[in-house]
Amino acid sequence: MTPHRTPYFHTQVIGCGPGALGIAVAADRLKLLDTLLDQGIAFLEKAPTPKELFRQRFPFQIESNSVAEDFLKAIETEGIFAEVCKNENSRFVYSRIGSTLPLENIRMLMNDLTKAFLEKCCFSGTSGIFFGREIESIRLSADGTATTYGRSGIPIAQSRNVVIATGAVESLPAPDDSVDGGKIRYLPSSHVLSGMFSEVEEQIRDGRTIAILGGSHSAFSVAVLLLECFGSQFKQDRIRIYHKGVHLYFSSILEAIESGYSIAGAQIFRATGEVNKFHGLRGKAKELYQQVVSGRESRVQVRDSSLFPQRPHFTDAPILAIQAIGYRSRKIGLVDDAGAPIRVFEYRNCQMVDPQCRLLAENGSPIRNLYGIGIGHARLSENREFKIGVNFFHGPDGETIVHQIAAPARRIAPGPRPNQSSPNLNGVPN
Ligand SMILES: Cc1cc2nc3c(=O)[nH]c(=O)nc-3n(C[C@H](O)[C@H](O)[C@H](O)COP(=O)(O)OP(=O)(O)OC[C@H]3O[C@@H](n4cnc5c(N)ncnc54)[C@H](O)[C@@H]3O)c2cc1C
Repeated sequence: MTPHRTPYFHTQVIGCGPGALGIAVAADRLKLLDTLLDQGIAFLEKAPTPKELFRQRFPFQIESNSVAEDFLKAIETEGIFAEVCKNENSRFVYSRIGSTLPLENIRMLMNDLTKAFLEKCCFSGTSGIFFGREIESIRLSADGTATTYGRSGIPIAQSRNVVIATGAVESLPAPDDSVDGGKIRYLPSSHVLSGMFSEVEEQIRDGRTIAILGGSHSAFSVAVLLLECFGSQFKQDRIRIYHKGVHLYFSSILEAIESGYSIAGAQIFRATGEVNKFHGLRGKAKELYQQVVSGRESRVQVRDSSLFPQRPHFTDAPILAIQAIGYRSRKIGLVDDAGAPIRVFEYRNCQMVDPQCRLLAENGSPIRNLYGIGIGHARLSENREFKIGVNFFHGPDGETIVHQIAAPARRIAPGPRPNQSSPNLNGVPN
């Protein structure tokens, strides 16, 4: 029996979401994609098949928060994505420059980019997207290599560099019956935004109020979606949004002032002059907020979060609270050669990277050859906000990582090259 050999790549990317795609999009733009593919790069994705990956991306039935060009401007139109840029969906996205657009079209765009990259990998022989690879932990060896492990503890692959692009999950409080008497039923906003309405329908049928917690794009988008789907069934004050502050987006300080918006306390993004670039409401979410505060929309009320009834003793009926209060990184265990855990520096439940997208250890120093990209590992802006957006992942974040991993190879511990005969990972991706 041939002993199992762990395949070696120059780089492993964990996850193949829009964040991870930033590596391919940036490398293509920088004309470094062939270098990366020749060096050997493996994208390890937990979704079992491409079809399943494509189904679960951006499943939300709402408008994007970003404008169309944010999804397009990093893509090199003459490179491997040239055909994608010309297809019908992309033409629609281009036609929406300056506006937000349905996330369904963004899902199609991201899927088309992935398919084009997958095809390119198939011909490389040394690189690929590998499905059904859920990474549980990474072991960092003293020789500078990293080995990824799946649930069963079997090594999946070895490499010099690892890019973590596993995304994030919604923060939800653990139900605490001692506080709310078991009467508050929490749902993540992603559940409702994906069109799963059974709990909401039950609430509407019984004529009860729906609470939405948070002042974010997701929070207001939940209310927009509920009004679009069930609007005529809501009476006055049936949707209450409890928040700690609502911020609006403006493309410039002048636009904000002309709209009568107070910019005291607003975050101004120095590079572009945009107001509340990362957390400000845009599009339909912003319109709804403005309608509510001006009294034109009475079915929705906005209230301070301190007024959320933690103890709903005044009624026997449970409250449905849809949470939209933020995200936390999807984490992967990190251990050293001896199996001791390596702790990562965290801020607001997110694992932190430095300005070069290098993952930071608890003491604030970068961990060698380990990078992070995407919603779970975003960089911080000068205003200490996470720079979350496909335009960052595909633009400067992807670029800084590519420059570091496509540097002239200084192989620390060359392992076996990937070859077609390995049963585990290599060859044409499944
Ligand atoms: C309602 C809503 C609206 C949004 N609107 C916008 C917008 O307009 N513009 C914008 O730029 N962003 C928007 N976002 C944010 C958007 O979700 C992110 O920009 C994008 O999805 C981040 O991609 P990602 O790859 O970092 O994470 P994900 O999309 O979460 O992808 C992570 C990938 O990693 C895989 N994975 C996870 N764990 C493992 C593991 N252990 N092993 C292997 N694979 C793993 C997952 O299967 C997945 O494919 C929105 C988000 C929400 C919720």
